[in-house]
Amino acid sequence: AIPLVVAINTSLAARNGMLIRDRIAMEEAREVDVVVFDKTGTLTEGEQGVVAVETVSGIDENDALALTAAIEGDSEHMIARSIRQVAVERDLVLPETSGFEAIKGRGVRATIDGETVHVGGPNLLDQFGIEPSSELTAFAEEAGANAQTVVYLVRGGEAVAAIALADVVREESRQAVEALHEMGIEVAMLTGDSEDVARAVARDLGIDTYFAEVLPEDKDKKIVELQEQGKNVAMVGDGVNDAPALTRADIGIAIGSGTDVAVEAADIILVQNNPLDVVRLVRLSRKSYRKMQ
Ligand code: ADP
Ligand code: MG
Repeated sequence: AIPLVVAINTSLAARNGMLIRDRIAMEEAREVDVVVFDKTGTLTEGEQGVVAVETVSGIDENDALALTAAIEGDSEHMIARSIRQVAVERDLVLPETSGFEAIKGRGVRATIDGETVHVGGPNLLDQFGIEPSSELTAFAEEAGANAQTVVYLVRGGEAVAAIALADVVREESRQAVEALHEMGIEVAMLTGDSEDVARAVARDLGIDTYFAEVLPEDKDKKIVELQEQGKNVAMVGDGVNDAPALTRADIGIAIGSGTDVAVEAADIILVQNNPLDVVRLVRLSRKSYRKMQ
């Protein structure tokens, strides 16, 4: 039989906007040492809007945006949607593309007029060993310092444009970090985004540790690293990329509006998409399971 306390606990959790898929995880939540948050779509709204464009000579801003939006034509990523939206707003005519391909954790590519063109972040440039021009580098540094994500248009082995996108940090994220700290819990952040952006967001939110430019297949390794330090780890995420880390963590927590894959991988689902509910969850776990002893 299910112990009465656990039953009460589950319905209490439901009333607090949490769906418990694994009761053991709910019990373990009282002993969590570190909460690892995904950045985009978890700590932030995940709705990135284009805020600035910089190009090298020979290509103007609208041409760069039209090319980029065309390459991003078949991508589901929020970055792609935002770039396509600005192309629509500016009434840009997009060139025809073929052979679209997503490069996990790095960007996308497609062919225009027989030439393969890429769009992606710093991870993509690293893969090709491309150094952006000093203008693009300065642009990216300033954007990064403002926590803006930068993606590059890469053609002929050169970065020819950079696009800055701004995301909004959820107000509840700040409160969640503060409350977790008060409860003696460490807070970390895990992201595929650049070092600059990660540093700016971590500083803004008072997060202790961050891991940036982490490829999707490496996210769960960061969880293991923390576990090997003897820590009880909770992971909070929303993306397909977060699923292995959610499975690996002692307590896997998915944002309710996240992808099905993330929700399926999680032990607990935050129905209201509110990072502060992580704090409620730990409190509820501490309160409920103390009663049992
Ligand atoms: P996250 O959601 O944590 O940023 P992703 O693995 O989805 O992690 O993306 C990691 C990075 O790869 C992004 O920050 C971006 O630089 C690049 N990227 C991924 N998908 C795209 C895309 N469709 N267009 C441009 N860049 C992309
Ligand atoms: Mg995410």
